[in-house]
Amino acid sequence: MSGYIGRFAPSPTGLLHFGSLLAALASYLDARAHQGLWLVRIEDLDPPREMPGAAAHILRTLERLQLHWDGPVRYQHQQHERYQAAIDILLTQQQAYPCSCSRKQLDQRHVSRGPQGQVYDRYCLTHPPAAGNACAIRLKVEQTRCRFIDRVQGPVEYDFASLGDVVIKRKDGPFAYQLAVVLDDAEQGITHIVRGSDLLDSTPWQVSLQQALALPHPSHAHIPVIVNNDGQKLSKQTFAQPLDAKDSSQLICAALDCLHHPLPDELRKAPVPEQLAWAVRHWRIAHLPAELTFHHPYWGKR
Ligand code: GLU
Repeated sequence: MSGYIGRFAPSPTGLLHFGSLLAALASYLDARAHQGLWLVRIEDLDPPREMPGAAAHILRTLERLQLHWDGPVRYQHQQHERYQAAIDILLTQQQAYPCSCSRKQLDQRHVSRGPQGQVYDRYCLTHPPAAGNACAIRLKVEQTRCRFIDRVQGPVEYDFASLGDVVIKRKDGPFAYQLAVVLDDAEQGITHIVRGSDLLDSTPWQVSLQQALALPHPSHAHIPVIVNNDGQKLSKQTFAQPLDAKDSSQLICAALDCLHHPLPDELRKAPVPEQLAWAVRHWRIAHLPAELTFHHPYWGKR
């Protein structure tokens, strides 16, 4: 074993589609090319947004595509106590604070907007909400800048003034993705994160949380995501078709084309294990373009 631990962490809000297959396959190949472990985690934090049966369907599709993971699947809905314990620590250390502001109130105060939407103006830090008010919990971001080297995108730099203090527990109850992902990556010993570039803007908050909780910083690789002509990413909301794993070797072949690792002619219709073995041997993450998005004909067939 090499010490590399990677993961694929889908939210079961819909079935696996071609866009999520790219993240699954890239993270799988990167892990296997490093003789590392590849874990699967179901990020089921927000039941109302989830689709019944989606988690089981995602896992079945991965199995049919022969993307076999190591160890047991982790489910975030089983981790609430750990998430709450981290919130309690952050509150005690005054690295987090309750916030009762609504989106509408932020609109009325004309707060600025950044890549992640409204930038919180820290109103509740100076005007603590009265006890008994429904509150979200926000991380108090201490840093002004975040810099890291992304293995695909290259050097990345963010100014926290354009992001603000992120919500780590929502007013309506659920723990936020930003908190859960950081805690689980640390708990599972993840060393390398490979995921879609739609999550690049979340990385500074995750780095900030790792710092606040004295957790290690995994390395990042944000791969380009497929978009349509309006720049929308492939997703359930944009009618991405669920994958039909019956065509598994065709799907792996198309996904490898998108990941800039086209199979040689003699393997384009070969059994999936042969295709994957070739891809693991030839995997070079640097072959991926340092772009956030790309267009592909697999896009949005209804
Ligand atoms: N659960 C997130 C999603 O499906 C991905 C989390 C991650 O890879 O950090 O978009």
